[in-house]
Amino acid sequence: MAIKHTAVSYYGFNYVEHAIKDFQEIKEHGCDTVILAITEFDMDFWFPNINNIVKAAHEIGLKVLADPWGIGKFFGGEQVSLFLQNNIHNRQVSALTDEPLVAACFNTRSFREYFEGICLKLAKETEVDGFFWDEPHYAKPSHVASFGADGKDDWTCRCPVCMKKFEEEYGYEMPRVMNDDVLRFRRREALFTLSEASRKIKEVNPKLEITCCVLATLDDYYNREARGYDDWDAVCACPYFDVFSTTIINYDMPNSFISDITRRTVEVAKKYGKESERWISGYFSRPADFKRIDEIIDIYDDLGVDRVATWTYRGGYGTSLASKDPIELWDNIGRNFARMQAKNK
Ligand SMILES: [Zn+2]
Repeated sequence: MAIKHTAVSYYGFNYVEHAIKDFQEIKEHGCDTVILAITEFDMDFWFPNINNIVKAAHEIGLKVLADPWGIGKFFGGEQVSLFLQNNIHNRQVSALTDEPLVAACFNTRSFREYFEGICLKLAKETEVDGFFWDEPHYAKPSHVASFGADGKDDWTCRCPVCMKKFEEEYGYEMPRVMNDDVLRFRRREALFTLSEASRKIKEVNPKLEITCCVLATLDDYYNREARGYDDWDAVCACPYFDVFSTTIINYDMPNSFISDITRRTVEVAKKYGKESERWISGYFSRPADFKRIDEIIDIYDDLGVDRVATWTYRGGYGTSLASKDPIELWDNIGRNFARMQAKNK
């Protein structure tokens, strides 16, 4: 008995009267929270409607978290980035080939100010209840002409800003081959970006809640993702984060893997006095048997997860990432969320 909160992500900030109907459906699917996937285009074009949509969700009884979805391609997400469209600099750079990549370098002042500007505008001018840091990560270069046979040894970021910062601190040029100094540098800078944004958000309103959701990787001896947020202890220790979350795992992965990630998520969250969150896949693919959803939700609940969330509304219906049978998938996730609400209230 553990799961206290249930959330779903939601795209689209077009017309509040349409959103109201969707939010009613979300509530009927056992959710108490909606995670708004806000794009750079939404901020630029639909901003006048965002707070009306936030208010509509509140009236229906949903908590609202803002997800700066895919911004600068620093966060996960399929959206296109205006920052990348409007800037030819401040990009992450491949360590092995010096190629600029289609991802903003979040260690540059330019991107940090841009990202913080979006968050602070939402914090000051809307009534959102908090923020959701959605799979922040260093880009993984993949290109045919890299020194590594398939780019697997390549990494980011070796842009002029990162190189200068590194050299000032460690007293030698940032190497092309990753070493422990580079690993530590990358982690610290990555965490600083989110920690500073979170601190400034809480200065505006200390009640705004911050969830940090990192990639659910094992990072064991044989396999290390090194995407910047893989030291879960360091991430979870950040005083400005309230909820520690780890990302979606494919339905086909064995229960031992799912349990291991879940146990580690809950343990590290508890250690630093945070709530824990796990995700269930509500897009792209469905389990062969919908009972698999019940099984995974029960694992989360048994292992003490505080919150469960799903990406995304209606199984991605109507998008290129819709699952097979998206509405049935959504209904089965909703049935499980309602089951947890009834069980744990
Ligand atoms: Zn950089």
